[in-house]
Amino acid sequence: MYGYFYRHLLFPFFDRVVKGRQTLTHWNSFEHTQWRSRAQLEGQQLTDLRSLLTHAEATCPWYRETWANLQLRAGEVNSFQDFQSFPLLTREAIRDHRVELRTTQPLKLIPKSTGGSSGVPLQFDLDTGSNDRRTAMMYRGYRWAGGEPGTRQLFIWGGPVAGTAGWKQWKQALHTAFDNRKIINCFDFTPERMPVHVKALDRFKPEVIVAYTTPLYEFARYLDEHGIEPFSPKSIIVGAEKLHDFQRTLIERVFKCKVFETYGSREFMLIGAECGEHAGLHLSHENLYVEILDDNGHPTPAGEEGNIVITDLFNHGMPFIRYVNGDRAVAGWKNCPCGRGLPLLTRVTGRRLDTLETPDGRKIPGEFFPHLIKDFTAVRRFQVVQTTDDTIVVKLVAPDMSRESEEQLLHAITACTGWSVQIQIERVAEIPLTKAGKLRVVVREAKPTEPCENVNVQLAASGSAQ
Ligand SMILES: [Zn+2]
Repeated sequence: MYGYFYRHLLFPFFDRVVKGRQTLTHWNSFEHTQWRSRAQLEGQQLTDLRSLLTHAEATCPWYRETWANLQLRAGEVNSFQDFQSFPLLTREAIRDHRVELRTTQPLKLIPKSTGGSSGVPLQFDLDTGSNDRRTAMMYRGYRWAGGEPGTRQLFIWGGPVAGTAGWKQWKQALHTAFDNRKIINCFDFTPERMPVHVKALDRFKPEVIVAYTTPLYEFARYLDEHGIEPFSPKSIIVGAEKLHDFQRTLIERVFKCKVFETYGSREFMLIGAECGEHAGLHLSHENLYVEILDDNGHPTPAGEEGNIVITDLFNHGMPFIRYVNGDRAVAGWKNCPCGRGLPLLTRVTGRRLDTLETPDGRKIPGEFFPHLIKDFTAVRRFQVVQTTDDTIVVKLVAPDMSRESEEQLLHAITACTGWSVQIQIERVAEIPLTKAGKLRVVVREAKPTEPCENVNVQLAASGSAQ
């Protein structure tokens, strides 16, 4: 009942009238365009790509200069193949040229930051129109899993990590109640806290659970080992970390519902999502042009693993054109039996960071550290290494970081790791990269206590990719 009221009255009023957004218009459009043929969708992509390139060349100083030096012209791009001669955009380039990458047009920009999985924290901007489009894309993807706005959703998600001001907490609490949501901080899933979460789940009775993969999997394991039958939602949406088959199997068995995997990032929001066929992740094709390239920048043959490279067709405020996001995936765009024209991303392979484990039994997903450190903007590069069972070394390249800020970081890490493990912060001049120019951000050198075949295979695979 609330869902219907929210979807048809409250939400449109808030979104269109109060906030003046175009989210619903885009969402309605995406509900139609998903059924277009692949050729129709790609025709539109090429049109949108060409106007993005023309816009970037005319109004973004960094693109204008870089392309002019390479004698590339936006007006000469007539195919995706022509586009392949355009240079790749790295995180470092965004760090160093944020201002010149922005458009000189007076668009309203929203500043964002991300820790990412590559160890280079990043601040960037997007324009409000692009924000509406990507939000709409998320609504469509979540709808495939039965989780459209207004449905009762329990989020097991990264909570605020730095101290949030009191009024902000109130505002967030009001928002989540209005949106029919409940949020549990995913870093709070320690063995002793599990009974509290079981009660919260049974009391809230969500239609959909939206969760980071690792804490949800740990939760499912706890329920399974203790023979607890939890409240069963209609479906579960997972994201932020790779979902392994063994994790999906256990979660589906324990919660007695289907799991829908999503893949996204702060830079683009939803990149891909599963539909009810669970055959792969449908790309957010109307907003993003996605390529899989080898280390030399050439397209990866179907079935082989390569680097994910993304162009956001609509962030005119600060265009991301051929951005290497640091993740790896298997190439080859399959069709889905559901009939949608949006191609399938078969498998994202290289997103996994090591999970650290403390002597008191906490499992800390590697994704925690980028999530935390992104708020410490003086950090240029970082690496977290669990050297022994009870020692975690946090290396920071942060010449301008104050002692006070370092103390805050230490405090925030300890709040999640507990006191059974010692945190050592080391200020270093540089953190060496691997031969392939990548950085392993979160490394567990201390041997895992419960080896799992699938995890080992995955670690070996991502290790070779680094
Ligand atoms: Zn499908």
